[in-house]
Amino acid sequence: MNKYYFCTIFNVMKRILITGGAGFIGSHLCERLLKENNEVICVDNFFTGSKENIVHLTGNPYFELVRHDVVTPFFAEVDEIYNLACPASPVHYQYNGIKTIKTSVMGAINILGLAKRTRAKVLQASTSEVYGDPHVHPQTEDYWGHVNPIGVRSCYDEGKRCAESLFMNYHRQNSVRIKIIRIFNTYGPKMHPNDGRVVSNFIVQALRGEDITIYGDGRQTRSFQYVDDLVEGMIRLMATGDDFTGPVNVGNPGEFTIRQLAETVIRLTGSTSKLTYLPLPQDDPVQRQPDITLAKEKMNWTPVVPLEEGLQKTIAYFKNKIK
Ligand code: NAD
Ligand code: UDP
Repeated sequence: MNKYYFCTIFNVMKRILITGGAGFIGSHLCERLLKENNEVICVDNFFTGSKENIVHLTGNPYFELVRHDVVTPFFAEVDEIYNLACPASPVHYQYNGIKTIKTSVMGAINILGLAKRTRAKVLQASTSEVYGDPHVHPQTEDYWGHVNPIGVRSCYDEGKRCAESLFMNYHRQNSVRIKIIRIFNTYGPKMHPNDGRVVSNFIVQALRGEDITIYGDGRQTRSFQYVDDLVEGMIRLMATGDDFTGPVNVGNPGEFTIRQLAETVIRLTGSTSKLTYLPLPQDDPVQRQPDITLAKEKMNWTPVVPLEEGLQKTIAYFKNKIK
């Protein structure tokens, strides 16, 4: 008896929908879930995602790629849904702020409707941005945040906050089985070279010998998580019992200034690039660090990849990508 036949008969193989599956994180998740013998449906409109990220999976009979925009309803019979569709880089989500809000809000409504009909478990890729420019440090899940509702980042921050509210309301009113993960800055191979986020910008600039663009004085902090740690956290969260909805922080508590990141990237690449200072974008958070006590307790999860190790892997990827 072949494996597919066995899994289908004994109902072991799950059919999993990943929206935004052709993006940076989504493509890693597609890979991992296929490796674990699931059937994966990847839905993407290719705004920031790319076929290149998933082309190696297209020969797998258990992988389906669908060009679709989550702003319109999607129909499929699935067991689990990971809702990742949304541009994540400030440059990209601010390019068309209205569309970003529609993607977060209408996307959530459509995906929750699908989960309600199919009784699928559904995980929302939320973000540390729901904490805005935080006054509580490190950030715990019970902190309500400090978000400018009308600023340039609000299309993303408020869109994600509204999506969290929708998830909780579908759970309370319709018993939809939900999971909310608050993802902190994540990096790794398959980020787009023009993504605009800090890790990919610095690595690409260093490899090309261009100036490293530090916005502001570089004293603002972020906590950087390697993508494999995040994917592990997402899968563990999905596997928790129905009584645990989150939100739960998933990030690496190691906190670095942006200047420290720049210096580390220069050292690891052996680059001759110099630092250059540009104006700080509006509402750029001053500090960010996850408190991951809840993830440890509920999912037995902690990140295992230190920054330098993750950067080495990411540098190797970009060396090959931009040569
Ligand atoms: P990404 O931009 O690489 O991936 C987003 C994917 O969603 C892309 O493939 C894009 O084409 C797709 N998409 C965008 N709008 C869509 C729409 N309307 N319909 C269908 N597909 C659409 O970004 P990422 O870093 O992989 O982020 C994935 C998810 O994780 C996002 O929801 C993001 O908000 C969340 N997140 C990421 C981080 C991070 O540091 N990477 C941090 C917090 C939250
Ligand atoms: N940043 C920077 N240079 C860049 C890109 C970003 O100094 O080329 C800074 C940005 O101002 C912010 C931090 O790096 O303080 C992280 O930015 P990113 O866009 O990666 O994500 P954010 O956490 O702000 O959403």
